[in-house]
Amino acid sequence: MAAMGGGGGKDGGGGMAAQAGRLGVVASVAFNLAALAFYLRRRYFGGDDAAAARKKAEAEVAPSSGKPPVTKDSIINLDHGDPMMYEAFWRGGAGERATIVIPGWQTMSYFSDVGSLCWFLEPGLEREVRRLHRLVGNAVADGYHVLVGTGSTQLFQAALYALSPPGPSAPMNVVSPAPYYSSYPAVTDFLKSGLYRWAGDAKMFDGDTYVELVCSPSNPDGGIREAVLKSGDGVAVHDLAYYWPQYTPITSAAAHDIMLFTVSKCTGHAGTRLGWALVKDRAVAQKMSKFIELNTIGVSKDSQLRAAKILKAITDGYDRAAGAAAAGDDDDDSSGRLFHFARRKMVSRWAKLRAAVAASGIFTLPDELPGHCTFANETVSAYPPFAWLRCGKEGVDDLEGYLRERKIISRGGGKFGADGRVVRISMLDTDEAFAIFVDRLAAMN
Ligand code: PMP
Repeated sequence: MAAMGGGGGKDGGGGMAAQAGRLGVVASVAFNLAALAFYLRRRYFGGDDAAAARKKAEAEVAPSSGKPPVTKDSIINLDHGDPMMYEAFWRGGAGERATIVIPGWQTMSYFSDVGSLCWFLEPGLEREVRRLHRLVGNAVADGYHVLVGTGSTQLFQAALYALSPPGPSAPMNVVSPAPYYSSYPAVTDFLKSGLYRWAGDAKMFDGDTYVELVCSPSNPDGGIREAVLKSGDGVAVHDLAYYWPQYTPITSAAAHDIMLFTVSKCTGHAGTRLGWALVKDRAVAQKMSKFIELNTIGVSKDSQLRAAKILKAITDGYDRAAGAAAAGDDDDDSSGRLFHFARRKMVSRWAKLRAAVAASGIFTLPDELPGHCTFANETVSAYPPFAWLRCGKEGVDDLEGYLRERKIISRGGGKFGADGRVVRISMLDTDEAFAIFVDRLAAMN
C-alpha cells in the first residue's frame, strides 16, 4: 500500500503512480464501505440472498393462523369458522396483486372523509364495496349508505344500538330463528345493556317490539332464511356474511333495510377485522356510525386500505377474465378468480364429507339445496361454510363430547338453540385438518 500510495515515486505527488495509488485507496475504501454495507445488511436486514431465502421460507411456513400444524394424531379444531382454506389462493398471483405498502406518514389522521355521514370510511373502500356488489349481484348498493366496522361483529352491535328505542323503556328484544348463530345471544347479552336483551328463538316470540336477526345462508345449518316475524314494531337485520357465490346460488340482489357483510367469509381475511353494512335509512345509518365513533373512534384505516386492495384484486381478476374471454382467449384460468377457486374447494370438500358420512353410517347432513345462480349463470348446489352434522347412533346425546373424545372439536347444538345430537363443523379450515377430519369421521360407526 505504501509503495502505491505513499507519494515517493519519481512522478511526484501528481504523477500517474500517485494517482493510481490514490485510486487504489479510493477503490479500497469504496470496497471496504461496500463490504461494510453488505455486512450490515446481512447483520441487520439479512442481505439479498438472505432476503430471498427468508421470502421463500415465509412462503413455506405453516399458515399464518398461529395454530400448530396438524398431524395424523392431532386434535382437529373445527369449532371456529376460521377461513384458512383461502390462504392457497392468496399465496398465488392474486396475493401479489393485493399487496399494499403503507408509508410511515400515511393513515395518521382519525378522519377519512369529514363531509361524509360515515366520516371514518375510506372512500377507496366504499368504491370497491360497491364495485364488488355490482360484479356479484348479491345486494343492491345503489341508494344505500355504506358503513364500515371492525368486523361485522361491531356493525351488528351498532345496529342493535341504532334500533333500540331511545329513552327509558324496557330493553329491545333481540331474536333469531333457531338454530341461530351462537354469537348472537353471547354478544347481545355480554355487556348487560339496558337498551336490548336476547329473547331467544324468533319462532317462539310473541311480543311486538323486537329486532330479528336473519342470517342467510344460515350459520349454522346453511339454510336460506327470511324474517319469520312480520308484525308489530319489529325490524330485521340481515346478516349476509355467507351470501357469496362460493357458498350458495346468488338468486337475486338482496335489498333489505340493513345488510351486514364481512371480508372474513367473503375473501377469507378474518384477521383484517373488516366488515361493512348497507343501510337504507339515513337516520339509522347515522346512529350506527355514532356507535362506532363512541366505541372505537372509527375503524383502522390500515385495515380499510388493505381490504379495499383485496376487494379490488377480486373484481379486477374477474374483469381481466372477462376481457380475455371477449378477446377470444377462453382458457379456464381461474387463478385470479376467487369465487371460482373457493367454490371448487367447497364442492370437493362437501363431496368428501358426504362420502365419509355414507361410509360411517351414523351421521346425517342437511340435503343439498340447488338453485339458479345469476353470478355463475347456471344451476348450482349450495355448499355451506359449516356442516350441520347430526348423529343417529343410540346413546350419543352429546355429539360434541362424542367427537371430542375422538379428537375433533366442534360446536354443540345447544349453543345454537338446538339439541345435543347435532354439531356445527367448520368447512373452511386447512386442507390438512379437513382431510384428517373426514378420515376420522368415516371410521366412526
Ligand atoms: N355473522 C356471521 C353469520 C358469522 O358467521 C360471523 C363470523 N363467524 C360473523 C358475522 C362475524 O364476522 P366478523 O369476522 O366480520 O366479525
